[in-house]
Amino acid sequence: MSRVFIGIGSNDGDRLESISSALKALGAAAGIRVVQMAVVSETDPVGGPPQGPYLNTVAEIATSLSPRRLLATLQGIERQLGRSPSSERWGPRVIDLDILLYDDRIIQEPDLCVPHPRMHERRFVLEPLSQLVPDIVHPLLQKTAAVLLEQLIAQPAVPTSPLAL
Ligand code: ATP
Ligand code: CA
Ligand code: CA
Repeated sequence: MSRVFIGIGSNDGDRLESISSALKALGAAAGIRVVQMAVVSETDPVGGPPQGPYLNTVAEIATSLSPRRLLATLQGIERQLGRSPSSERWGPRVIDLDILLYDDRIIQEPDLCVPHPRMHERRFVLEPLSQLVPDIVHPLLQKTAAVLLEQLIAQPAVPTSPLAL
C-alpha cells in the first residue's frame, strides 16, 4: 500500500457537496482507502480568469494503485462529478483532484508530475497538508510541509509594479 496525499478543490456549483461526493467516490474506488482529511477552508482563487472562491482540503489515502492508475481514477471521479475535460486551465471547476505526494516517489512525465510541481507555492495546499502531516518531507525539496508553509508565509509579497519596490 502506498501513502498518498490528494489536493481537493472546488469553486463551482455546490462546493461542499462536490468535495463530499469526491471523498465518497474515492472511498468507494477499488484499491483506495481514505485515511484522513484536513479541514475544508475557503480560499481566494490563484491565477486563471476572474472566478469565485474555492473550498480546498487535502485527503490522505492508502492505495494499491500505481500513480498512473490513480491519476486515471481521479480523472474518472472528476468527470463523474460533472467536470468537463475541456475546462479552461485554472478556470472554475466543480472538482479538482491532484496527486500531491505519492510515497517519496519522484515522477516527471509530461502528463504526470509528482510531487505536484506547484504544491510548495500554494498556501491552500500547504496549510491543510501541514495540519495532517507537518513532518512529511517533500522528496525533491527535502523540506517538511511545516517548513515549506513557514517559508511561503515569510516570503515577501511579489511587487506588482516597479513603484512597489
Ligand atoms: P494545477 O496542476 O496547476 O493545479 P489544474 O489542476 O487546474 O492546475 P488540470 O487542468 O486539472 O490542472 O490538469 C492538467 C493536467 O495536469 C492533467 O491532464 C494531468 O495529466 C496533469 N498532471 C500532472 N501532474 C499531475 C498531478 N500530480 N496530479 C494531477 N494531475 C497532474
Ligand atoms: Ca489543481
Ligand atoms: Ca488538476
